[in-house]
Amino acid sequence: MIVMKFGGSSVANREQVEKVMEIVRGRLGREPVVVCSAHKGMTDALVNSAKAAVQRQYSLPDVIDLQSEIAQGLGCPPELLADLYQEISDLLRGIGLVKELSPRSLDYIASFGERMSVRCIADFFTRQGLPAQAYDIWDLGFITDGNFGGARPLVGYKDRVKVAFRDLVPKGVVPIITGFVGKTLDGDITTVGRNGSDLTATLLGAALEVEEVEIWTDTDGVMTADPSVVPKAHNIPMMRFDEAAELARYGGRVLHPSTLQPAMEGGIPVRVLNTNCPEHPGTVINQKGDPGHDGVTSVAYKENQVVLTISAASMLAQSGFLAQVFETLGRQGVVVDMVSTSEISVSLTTSQMEPVKKALPELNAIGTCEIHPGKTVLVVVGRKLAERKGVSARVMSTLAEAGIPVEMLSFGKDSINFSLVLDDKDVDRAVRALHKTLFE
Ligand code: ASP
Ligand code: MG
Repeated sequence: MIVMKFGGSSVANREQVEKVMEIVRGRLGREPVVVCSAHKGMTDALVNSAKAAVQRQYSLPDVIDLQSEIAQGLGCPPELLADLYQEISDLLRGIGLVKELSPRSLDYIASFGERMSVRCIADFFTRQGLPAQAYDIWDLGFITDGNFGGARPLVGYKDRVKVAFRDLVPKGVVPIITGFVGKTLDGDITTVGRNGSDLTATLLGAALEVEEVEIWTDTDGVMTADPSVVPKAHNIPMMRFDEAAELARYGGRVLHPSTLQPAMEGGIPVRVLNTNCPEHPGTVINQKGDPGHDGVTSVAYKENQVVLTISAASMLAQSGFLAQVFETLGRQGVVVDMVSTSEISVSLTTSQMEPVKKALPELNAIGTCEIHPGKTVLVVVGRKLAERKGVSARVMSTLAEAGIPVEMLSFGKDSINFSLVLDDKDVDRAVRALHKTLFE
């Protein structure tokens, strides 16, 4: 058995869904379990319509038109989605009446994209002679906690999923399952977070103990850098789980950051493939990676980060300073990425300005705070970088030659990344220069 996940651009319209069908058809011998995203742009459209509804400005036809156009292109009967259209319109009206959009309602509205896409895709496949059935994933045992916008399946979900599959998915029928969404025991609809269908795929794969999870997207697997910034970026044939996780965490745009964890725990290889070029071998991500390769794998970056510096001369050689800083940040829910310290100060990066601002009054009592937005954390991901003589020197001299100032550095002994902070405005130049030095 394999899980095959198709993202929004892979199911954007009839032309794309036809490609998906041929890809699935070619793998029928491996018992494919298909997980789909909403059609491209649909989740955004739904979320925007809900935000507009709060202002009583929603125009329902927008979301329904977008979906109907795709459904019509696929030749689906109008009654296929009639109930869901009604539910969307009731929900938006409700949001408009109470003028309130809670995290619960936001997940509820966002869930419709996947629920509609799987119905259209299964209907289309079946009419084209590939028997398929659509499922809302909660009907297959995917019950989550109530953490709206970031829900995770409950302990024990794997057994539930196995039993549900055995009882509900007939042999010889391809299940087409909603990514992204879930439901609590109380029946509230949840989501695992934006771009989360990748994660749904590996969670489902782990429950079903599949031989492989395939993530079908619109690039030839994972690339050495973002090809829109670096035209010479090329495919990485094999990576280790931890390298790929690091890359995803730092903005490698192909995979949702949490995707690899369930696969890693279950020892299930993840393969990233291109729907528009299915013969390309893509990237295999597994425990071992490429045994013949040591050193640098890729360059990635996260823009729009905030650097926070807290200085306190009085804390010189005193214990408890860092503990106090992190305790305060932790209480406000600040997720810290990079840290660097000196005798009298600590600097750290995060993507979240709002919780940092909330923590400021308390932090000001500990030391003098400075906040600098507009920063990029750039990472060079690879294997045993610290042991590879010269990698850091090459990175730093490349940036110096390009005239790009670097503010913070972090480079742990066993770390698989070498991270630096620079200004957002320098990032494209930095990535191009580094790619040239390290890969070309
Ligand atoms: N449709 C969801 C989103 O746009 C989930 C996904 O595509 O992975 O965020
Ligand atoms: Mg995606």
